Amino acid sequence: MSAVKGWCPSLFAPMASGDGHLLRVRPFSARISASQARRIAALAPAAIELTNRGNLQLRGLAEPQLEPVAQALLAAGLAWPDPAEEARRNLCAPPLPVEDRGWIAALEAMLRGASGLAAKFGITLDTPEQPGPESDIRVTLGDGALCRLASGGVVAPVTPATVAALVQNFAASGHKRMRDAVAEHGATALLAAAGMVPHPDPAPPGPPRALLGPLHNAFGMAPRFGVLAPRDLATLAELTEKHGDGWIRIAPTRSLLIAGVADRAAIAAGLPGDWVTTEDNPWRRVVACPGVHGCASGQAPTRQDAAILLAQGYRPPPGLLHLSGCAKGCAHPAAAAAVLVGQAGRYALIRQGRAGDPPLRQGMTLAEAAAELDQR
Ligand code: SF4
Repeated sequence: MSAVKGWCPSLFAPMASGDGHLLRVRPFSARISASQARRIAALAPAAIELTNRGNLQLRGLAEPQLEPVAQALLAAGLAWPDPAEEARRNLCAPPLPVEDRGWIAALEAMLRGASGLAAKFGITLDTPEQPGPESDIRVTLGDGALCRLASGGVVAPVTPATVAALVQNFAASGHKRMRDAVAEHGATALLAAAGMVPHPDPAPPGPPRALLGPLHNAFGMAPRFGVLAPRDLATLAELTEKHGDGWIRIAPTRSLLIAGVADRAAIAAGLPGDWVTTEDNPWRRVVACPGVHGCASGQAPTRQDAAILLAQGYRPPPGLLHLSGCAKGCAHPAAAAAVLVGQAGRYALIRQGRAGDPPLRQGMTLAEAAAELDQR
């Protein structure tokens, strides 16, 4: 198996990176069993990353490991065997149990049989209590099922049949992303053409909410920067077998959940000491990509520097602080309150923007950047 350069890796399309290759595992129904977790932990040679679409990335794989690791993960039930079908299985589901009325199976079957979809095309299935990430298509389950399109501004009751018609029409349109189809045709026309009856959206969903700490019948936790060691995954497997329902659930907020929990204190006591279990923890307000320590494009040791800032007592201002190894901004493509972008070992500063936006200041050391951040 040869690695590809690109930004949509999968189990069968590894991506070359600064620390070897990475494979992406897309958990079915946003969860892995304890035995699947142990298998991943045994196969991962280095860190495992959580993504903001609820996937797992195994980093640091050498080229000869790619094929056997992919086959072992396939045998563990973590992918579809056909690489083209697996590449289309870009479905983000809610991590905690919901009454999905067959939606996950229907959407998976629809994606499996689809053709003509771009590699990054994705669908989010969520609920008002568990809002998912932005996607080309979002289906929200509540009192009925509602469909929204990226950048759409309207909403429509939906069935599996009408969402299948929508996807079919979209694939035939030649557009790669739904936002482009919406810009050309309008969301109302696209939904109506699939047999839906759209109306203005009175309550657009917010961003995904982290579910951390003790919850009703569950417990949520986040490793720093969404990065966990293989042994941590094995620890969670043991915790969910002893105290949960036997599954580890992966949220699109770079966090994990164990459900079916009666003794939540036992889960908290068994976690690695530096994991985060409250949303107001400063570590939850800093995001950082691997930077120079894991990516060939990295121009600064972002995670290391973020840890230094936090260890020195730096507290991010309201909103997110994003340390990005380069202007691509992979860890947080949206705008953040402040962004430090690596530039040849130093940092540029952007406020209220994205990593690729024009900086306010450039060429700063970490100490200078920290002082500049403190100005507000
Ligand atoms: S933002 Fe740049 S350095 Fe960071 S992971 Fe993306 S490409 Fe690599």
